[in-house]
Amino acid sequence: HFPVIAIDGPSASGKGTVAQKVANQLGFAYLDSGALYRLTALAAQRAGVLWTDEAAVAELAAKLDVVFVGESILLSGDDVSVEIRSELIGSGASQVAALPAVRVALLQRQRAFSEKEGLVADGRDMASVVFPHAQLKIFLSATPEVRAQRRFKQLLARNEPADLAVITADLQARDERDRLRSVAPLVQAADAYLLETSNLSIEAAVNQVLLWWRD
Ligand code: C5P
Repeated sequence: HFPVIAIDGPSASGKGTVAQKVANQLGFAYLDSGALYRLTALAAQRAGVLWTDEAAVAELAAKLDVVFVGESILLSGDDVSVEIRSELIGSGASQVAALPAVRVALLQRQRAFSEKEGLVADGRDMASVVFPHAQLKIFLSATPEVRAQRRFKQLLARNEPADLAVITADLQARDERDRLRSVAPLVQAADAYLLETSNLSIEAAVNQVLLWWRD
């Protein structure tokens, strides 16, 4: 079995950036599990399937033709790395993620990432459901204000329309859906370290994870 570092936390808590950098430092693979939910939402949109149609969305999730190449993500051969980051697809991802059959359909695909090498996996249920035996579990948090600011800056950097009040409300709605859903709700696992990043630089957060890993 290859080692797994599981990093969970709410939207815009910095998980993705921190997980990717830790993976680079350790020479591990990186799994962005949220991307799989985003790809599922996009595949449904393209197929004209409603995000509430559990059976049809789960079937699409099971059959996703996805390739991760460096920074690029290909869906049926089409580079969708930018498209899946939109706020609309983010909202769709959070809706399809609440459907139990969709989560089951994506489970094996996520576990397969740890079959050939060490892995850093980020998401909402990495520690609780997908990799319960992970060697290191971390829960990243940041205040709602800091997370909204981070998302705001991301959108500006991508030249996307950004309204702080809208972003704040949207993050809150998404977090509530993730925390209150019946399957794999977002919670800090009992055996996870809490890393509060509101006042930490990315580098400091990465270093803390590496310290725990070497411990
Ligand atoms: O992390 P990201 O914002 O890309 O995830 C998109 C959505 O996918 C989240 O809002 C969450 O509802 C869902 N998700 C999940 N479980 C994961 C990763 C993401 O439910 N492991």
